[in-house]
Amino acid sequence: MIYLDNAATTRMTTEVRAAMEPFLDRDFGNASSLHAAGRRARRALEDARETVAGCLGADPKEIVFTSGATESNALAIAGAAEALRGRGDHLVTSAIEHPSVLETVARLERQGWKVTRVPVDGVGLVDPAKVAAAITPRTVLVSVMTVNNEVGSLQPIAAIRLAARGVVFHTDAAQAVGILPVSVRDVDLLTFSAHKMHGPKGVGGLWIRKGTPLAPQSVGGGQEFERRAGTENVAGVAGLAAAMKAACAEPGGRMEPLRERLRAGLERLGGIRVWGSPERRAPHVLNVSIEGVDSEAAILALDAAGVCVSSGSACASMSTKPSHVLQAMGVPADLAKASVRFSLSSLTTAEEIDGALAVVPGVVERLRKISPVVR
Ligand code: PMP
Repeated sequence: MIYLDNAATTRMTTEVRAAMEPFLDRDFGNASSLHAAGRRARRALEDARETVAGCLGADPKEIVFTSGATESNALAIAGAAEALRGRGDHLVTSAIEHPSVLETVARLERQGWKVTRVPVDGVGLVDPAKVAAAITPRTVLVSVMTVNNEVGSLQPIAAIRLAARGVVFHTDAAQAVGILPVSVRDVDLLTFSAHKMHGPKGVGGLWIRKGTPLAPQSVGGGQEFERRAGTENVAGVAGLAAAMKAACAEPGGRMEPLRERLRAGLERLGGIRVWGSPERRAPHVLNVSIEGVDSEAAILALDAAGVCVSSGSACASMSTKPSHVLQAMGVPADLAKASVRFSLSSLTTAEEIDGALAVVPGVVERLRKISPVVR
């Protein structure tokens, strides 16, 4: 199998598994318990917090572990909105956010919040001037993702920060942390997820700048500095820290030449459109439309040939709706329906890229022959 769907999820490494192992077995204690087993779990949790904070250039006390980026996004957005309700009633986000952001914002809208969804340009970038123009004295939160999961566009976070000066700024960095060097310098709230960087699924975190107003969205045991109640996933958090430590030591530079090799190979097919910004992009995502080929048919045919890819995001790929991201970029519907996302990880090899390039032309030729789409 050639796995090129790393934006959906990545394979856990042996080191990550080894870091988790003790807490699935011998050191199974509850990190809130006072006895030795509990203390060992607590120590592991706090060590992990230090590692994660170190990678982000943050203070460990500012890290809250969660069940992943979906929960972190909900906690950041709904939590800030709830805490700042007295100061305003307006939220700003972008049109190309992950559904976990868009749906959280839509839920708040149904509860009376006003929302501006800033558009993007043809390559999927947010214009900071448009963020500035959207802000009113009633705006309490801006949320713009660092890297888009479908096309890989890398937003100008520092410039958006300047444009949003004085307003709490959240970024969903699930497709950036562990892939690019990421710093918390320009934001107040930052979301990350372990399974996008060879860690386990179902664990992630939210970095919360000291002093940022945030109402907890789950209450009870008071864990995670009273910001996210629930018995901590010690094994998961240990895996997250191990994954982050490895990723931090070697940010995604190695992926760039492999992605370019893949792009060049695909372009040789003709009728290929590459989406996203040529200049501001993450190294792991390559989203292309293959003219005359239906994306679902392409994914199934490539799967049959042993190559795993996807259309847009895994979360939306069960639906037949065209991607909201490509739509927001102004991509015509027929091209959006022909889009395929290839995504790499630090484990992807040149042999895998060449292996994929060896099967794609045959699949494309076959599908183009039977395609009802007129080219
Ligand atoms: N945000 C982005 C940008 C993502 O790519 C994903 C994963 N598809 C998520 C949020 C959700 O992450 P998780 O699976 O950790 O909940």
